[in-house]
Amino acid sequence: MEELKFQTKSGWLKLSTEEVDRFASGYIKFINNCKTERQTVKFAEEILKREGFVDVSEYGGEVPAKVYMKFRDKALVAMKINSKLTGGMNLVASHIDSPRIDLKPHPIIEDEGIALAKTHYYGGIKKYHWFNIPLSIIGVVVKEDGVRIEIKLGESEDDPVFVISDLLPHLDRKDEKVSEKFKAEKMNLILGSVPLNNEEKEAVKLNILRLLNEKYGVKEEDLVSADLYLVPAFKAREVGLDKSFIGAYGHDDRICAYTSLIALIEASSGKNMGIILFDKEEIGSEGNTGAKSRFYMMFFRKILKKQGFNDVEFYLDEALEKTNVISADVNVAINPSFKDVHDPANAARAGHGIVITKYTGARGKAGASEARAELVAKVRAILNEKGVLWQVGNLGKVDVGGGGTVAKFLAEKGAEVIDMGPGLIGMHSPYELVSKVDLYESYKAYKALLENL
Ligand code: MN
Ligand code: MN
Repeated sequence: MEELKFQTKSGWLKLSTEEVDRFASGYIKFINNCKTERQTVKFAEEILKREGFVDVSEYGGEVPAKVYMKFRDKALVAMKINSKLTGGMNLVASHIDSPRIDLKPHPIIEDEGIALAKTHYYGGIKKYHWFNIPLSIIGVVVKEDGVRIEIKLGESEDDPVFVISDLLPHLDRKDEKVSEKFKAEKMNLILGSVPLNNEEKEAVKLNILRLLNEKYGVKEEDLVSADLYLVPAFKAREVGLDKSFIGAYGHDDRICAYTSLIALIEASSGKNMGIILFDKEEIGSEGNTGAKSRFYMMFFRKILKKQGFNDVEFYLDEALEKTNVISADVNVAINPSFKDVHDPANAARAGHGIVITKYTGARGKAGASEARAELVAKVRAILNEKGVLWQVGNLGKVDVGGGGTVAKFLAEKGAEVIDMGPGLIGMHSPYELVSKVDLYESYKAYKALLENL
């Protein structure tokens, strides 16, 4: 009678450790080099080009074809076209932005002989996580003449790193709420302390500006037109005596970007299949590079037009109606030290495989995207047939959790959408943990679904 029960087991009991480790080492290289959405788009474009994908502007309507389009260097969509688009598509959509700390547009100040950079955090963070850890500055500064200067400081061994420093415990004995203790306006990055000379006012700030000018040719006003992020400087590492986890910054959600990209490259079947890498998910999918935007629809319209469809809007609706989307985003795996936030029967466990989330949202499914039973059945059947380890998981108890993904924005367009991704421990922290098994099973799941949905 045991087989009547739905139970999951640790994947370590079933999988070849070698296979899991091989995939993990590729991922560790990726996640170390892709800490921002721009870096990830660049990485994806390089791989896609190497694999024979061409820019959509070069697509002539032929089948099969491999095309992609990047958008404003911050988002990307790629597709293997294997038939007319009106036959529908299998898509895996993820996001490539992660919680981080941004520099303000006029960042540099001097106070008490220390030069500081003012910041504004991005996405849902626990502010205290970002104090007293080594940070890198990554991004671009664009000069008035349009010249773009790439900044990457803190990533190589010879670079300095940067720190947002907290108060020492000796002078901080008041037992305040964390929200009182860790204020956004105190998240100031220490830039330096050497004065330029004895005469100038703000001589330390001036010296920092001199160093920036020597290294990058920028002046203070140029920082107004910049996308500069602070991200953890530390490297991804294997975690635990048994090395079962990978610790890294930004698993959410570049782990799904990577696994879906590799899955797309390796997948083959007669279906149209693609991936979308969105920006701005962490702040509500806003803007022209987030999932609320139109760039990926433009990509589909271009393909339809090249395939000879004149009434592009009509046929786009038809294509989307026959489209399945895996909203590929991370979920939470139970941290045994904080397990009371979960309903154990509906929570994911590290190492038990990719997590199917039938619906997001909380408190009466507010703001949810929910997969239809029919789609869940199909997904389950494919994963079981292909031997992919999966489990179910919701983000916390009914009236506790919640959290959105890109799912609902794609569902609005008419596609069938389901949320799936690996479970993390310490999600949205500077050092998130993922089980190597869940990384590998996510890749296997996306590949199986791209080919077979
Ligand atoms: Mn996410
Ligand atoms: Mn997130």
